[in-house]
Amino acid sequence: MPKFIADSMLGKLSKWLRIIGYDTLYFRKIEPKSIAKISNSEKRIILTRNSHLSELQPYKLVYINSTNIDEQLKQIISEFKIDTKSRLFSICTLCNTKVKKIKKEEVKDKVPSYIFKNNSSFYICQKCQKIYWQGSHYHNSIRKINELVI
Ligand SMILES: [Zn+2]
Repeated sequence: MPKFIADSMLGKLSKWLRIIGYDTLYFRKIEPKSIAKISNSEKRIILTRNSHLSELQPYKLVYINSTNIDEQLKQIISEFKIDTKSRLFSICTLCNTKVKKIKKEEVKDKVPSYIFKNNSSFYICQKCQKIYWQGSHYHNSIRKINELVI
């Protein structure tokens, strides 16, 4: 399963790769040298709009052709035969850490009461403690991904 590190121009793409469950590092500010270094030490594929990064001899690099998020996602999904279904929402979109299922009772005071009332399954990020549930954002994300892979 490929792991990625995206350059600072690809924040949206990073977020979407996390939504479909692929380990993707992203930093708002990072030196090209550091990206190449992490790529080599963690065997991460660099996703970039900057073709000069290949001169730093990273582990592997993929040049992202489009500035459009849908096109970017399509490129990665087809190039790496990404499985867009089985790992969906398994990674925290904020910090790239695995989320785990949490008992409903445990989130009672941590989410708005209407969210608590209307949902049965909750997940929590093991690092930043962000809580996830299958709300409208969840369903919109699935719809978007399904549109992309057709
Ligand atoms: Zn997190």
